[in-house]
Amino acid sequence: MEYIQFNLLKPYSTICHGIFTRNQGFSKKPFNSLNVSLNIGDDKNLVFKNRKKILQFMKFKKSFYLNQVHGKEIFILKKDNYLKNQKIDINNRVGDGIVTNIPEILLVIQTADCQSILMYDPLKKVIANIHSGWQGSIQNIIKAGIDTMINCFQCKPENILSCIGPSLGPCCCEFINYKTEIPKNLWKYKLKNNYFDFWKLSFDQLILQGVKSHNIEIKKKCTKCSTKDFFSYRKEKITGRFASVLGIKK
Ligand SMILES: [Zn+2]
Repeated sequence: MEYIQFNLLKPYSTICHGIFTRNQGFSKKPFNSLNVSLNIGDDKNLVFKNRKKILQFMKFKKSFYLNQVHGKEIFILKKDNYLKNQKIDINNRVGDGIVTNIPEILLVIQTADCQSILMYDPLKKVIANIHSGWQGSIQNIIKAGIDTMINCFQCKPENILSCIGPSLGPCCCEFINYKTEIPKNLWKYKLKNNYFDFWKLSFDQLILQGVKSHNIEIKKKCTKCSTKDFFSYRKEKITGRFASVLGIKK
């Protein structure tokens, strides 16, 4: 299968991770082909086949998917709220971030232009997977995710590794109506001609929470410029969602 990895996370044998491209899945056009979203009109049976393919490739038995809504709710997956008999592909929880210290569950974020932010604290062995589109950026879901790691799992921000997947780059991130859509305090991320740099915004949000710059890796790959490998909502409108996955090994 085709996937990319982060240099920051690769050295840790305790976890496994990857950003899967849109290729080598089962879905037909316009969701071709490794679409993992159930909410966009694709054939559900094919989506489940795609999800299963990723799960087996990662050698996991269970995955955790959220019903992502561009908010900043973080779901805390702890032993006491985790039901053993739940099926793979749990998808009924509304939220845009998951934090856990439970091994053998693959946390999956689904995107097509939005950022997936994979986080790992190697000392506490806690992982988080966050979905942050422009609305998540405005609401600072990154802060919500890191606060959860600190408050519920005693993580320290200086130990947290943060990696941002392929997403809409400043080359394509145009907001014609930015004056009504984006708060004024974020206008400093505007480049020329109403284009915004949300990669820089996320970097700054991480730094502000105490994450060290050498613990941040941003894959500066623009999804709208790379639709051969990634889904792009802006470019294609009706399209799939690719998977960013992170899990703690047994
Ligand atoms: Zn671009």
